[in-house]
Amino acid sequence: MNTDNRQWLLKRRPIGRVKESDFELAISEPPQPQSEEILIRNTWLAFDPAMRGWIDDKPNYFPPVEIGEVMRGMTVGEVVHSNNNEYKKGDIVTGMLGWQDYAISNSEQIRKTIPNITPEASLSIFGITGLTAYFGLLEKGQPQEGDVIVISGAAGATGSVVGQIAKIMGCRVIGIAGGEKKCEWLVNTAGFDAAIDYKNENVDQRLKELCPQGLNIFYDNVGWPILDIALSHIAMGARIVICGSIARYSSKELPSGPKNYINLVNKRARMEGFLILDYLARAPEAVMRLCEWQSKGLIQWETDIQQGFENAPKSLLRLYTGENFGKQLLRI
Ligand code: NAP
Repeated sequence: MNTDNRQWLLKRRPIGRVKESDFELAISEPPQPQSEEILIRNTWLAFDPAMRGWIDDKPNYFPPVEIGEVMRGMTVGEVVHSNNNEYKKGDIVTGMLGWQDYAISNSEQIRKTIPNITPEASLSIFGITGLTAYFGLLEKGQPQEGDVIVISGAAGATGSVVGQIAKIMGCRVIGIAGGEKKCEWLVNTAGFDAAIDYKNENVDQRLKELCPQGLNIFYDNVGWPILDIALSHIAMGARIVICGSIARYSSKELPSGPKNYINLVNKRARMEGFLILDYLARAPEAVMRLCEWQSKGLIQWETDIQQGFENAPKSLLRLYTGENFGKQLLRI
């Protein structure tokens, strides 16, 4: 077991796509927990595309990570020392404890993982990813039986779960993803009705063929330009769920679209964003249903597991090139 505290610090604000050299490795002694505090040794890190926005200088829903500060990120770890009655040595916990071996918590930033659930599942299907898919689709997409739903970033951690919940709700599900392998997985393993390879196919043309009556729900993980194309295919009363916009996270320039937004008027449609942080109090409801669906074999999910603390920045980069296949995790 490592007894140093290795930490990945933000070295500079990235220009364009994030690079490994935007971070620097620091080594110090593990921190000492004070009264009511808990010392946690992180064992897993999870990566989210939104991390690119957290290291910009503009605040979004979180303040920016400061230069010299430990990179923010979700982790799973083990309690190694506790001065807090709610936690004991050996408890497995999860929280936003950052890219470091050891972290201190006063118990407010952490919770115990669900018993008998692996760290991989705690950080993906039963973590922020699963909750984002569940609440984004059910609360904002409001799927009805027979609806046609189109999902961008469909083979990703969130998108793939959205599609499978939509199938359970009786929708016809079309995924948009990059590359043959991901599209094949969507149809043959995740049970999507069709997949569009946006890197090799004409998305506009394929949507015309696959949903001639228009789409009722567009669940967007990617943003412009795919959002713009989807807007030109909406049916009357469509719901466009803005979950994320990974296609523009690395660019300083704002996109020049969506140009087709006026279709929201023509089709009396609604486009709405959401943030999973607003639904965390309802997590038990989502976890219970996701558990039930998973135990019936109705939800397949993939994890992409990198190894070694030194590879944390490299693992983050994989999200922006589409190298990840499933939830991007790292085992420390
Ligand atoms: P993910 O989908 O597992 O990984 C990101 C995927 O995005 C990549 O595998 C890649 O797939 C695709 N991608 C990357 N660059 C792209 C580009 N320029 N154009 C099109 N696709 C691109 O990641 P995730 O963790 O599940 O996150 C998915 C989305 O949900 C992100 O936008 C994230 O910010 C958002 N999110 C929102 C909330 C919320 O509260 N609203 C919470 C969590 C996550 P391909 O190989 O198919 O290109």
